[in-house]
Amino acid sequence: MALYIVAEECISCGDCEPVCPTDSIKEGKVVFEINTSSCNECEGQADAPQCIDVCPVDNCILPLAS
Ligand code: SF4
Ligand code: SF4
Repeated sequence: MALYIVAEECISCGDCEPVCPTDSIKEGKVVFEINTSSCNECEGQADAPQCIDVCPVDNCILPLAS
């Protein structure tokens, strides 16, 4: 399971990048992006996805549809 950043919502504040325990968030060409191969939704590392906790925009980071 992984999360992704909704490009239309992200304001590129960068707050999510340093809090990711798996180093899965990087600034992309347009907005910030989550590496869906390494994102584990913070399982075993935090009680909740840390990127969602710090993101100032509602519904900007969502579960990747499987
Ligand atoms: S859910 Fe956790 S592991 Fe995945 S991108 Fe967000 S902070 Fe990183
Ligand atoms: S915290 Fe939210 S708005 Fe800021 S860069 Fe990350 S996804 Fe984009």
